[in-house]
Amino acid sequence: MRLTLALLAFATAVDAQGRHPTIVIDPGHPSEVSSGAAVHNGTSEVHVAWQVGQRLATLLRAQGYAVVMTKSAERTNVSNVDRARIGNRTQAALVVRLHCDDSADSGYAIYHPDRQGTSHGRTGPNEAVMRASAAAAESLHVSMSKLLAGKLKDGGVRGDSKTAIGEQQGALTGSIYSEVPVVLVEMVTLSNPRDAAFIKAPRGQSLMAQAIAEGIGRYAPASNSPRVR
Ligand SMILES: [Zn+2]
Repeated sequence: MRLTLALLAFATAVDAQGRHPTIVIDPGHPSEVSSGAAVHNGTSEVHVAWQVGQRLATLLRAQGYAVVMTKSAERTNVSNVDRARIGNRTQAALVVRLHCDDSADSGYAIYHPDRQGTSHGRTGPNEAVMRASAAAAESLHVSMSKLLAGKLKDGGVRGDSKTAIGEQQGALTGSIYSEVPVVLVEMVTLSNPRDAAFIKAPRGQSLMAQAIAEGIGRYAPASNSPRVR
């Protein structure tokens, strides 16, 4: 009963200043690393990330966030450095990077910078960004594990250093250049047919966007964010 009431109650002014936090949504690819256009089980990473990104933007705007996308169309090429610079320039409360994995495993995982890395002569991010990014990743995980239970395998929260690029550089390029909190969500493992079927369906995309939006609300609530627990 209490939970139902809590979910129905909407905060009117969670932020004392009445501000509208800026969330940067970064639908992955194309970038200098990959086009993301390889077809897996009838869809592609660049397409899925763009579609979920659009749904997420709509949800967040309705909750009172200022939303900035890192690209204007699905196939717009933006380097990972430039993606990070958009977050910095807008002083985003959080940059959420949307990707899909390609492996023998399945399910989702949430990544954050867990140590400094170096790319193109730059070393970063700083300690405060790493701490905040880890907290944001934990918040996203609480909501995703709740809303996606039984639908996708929970790969948990992981450090950038566990990724192939992070292993080489220390962190992902988008994290190294970030001066604001940043997380990367591998929403599904697109090479897995069950995961691909989930995220191709409008219901799956909608649920993914809801789960991520709720997680953002836990970390950086906006004026209209549903109260969650
Ligand atoms: Zn990707």
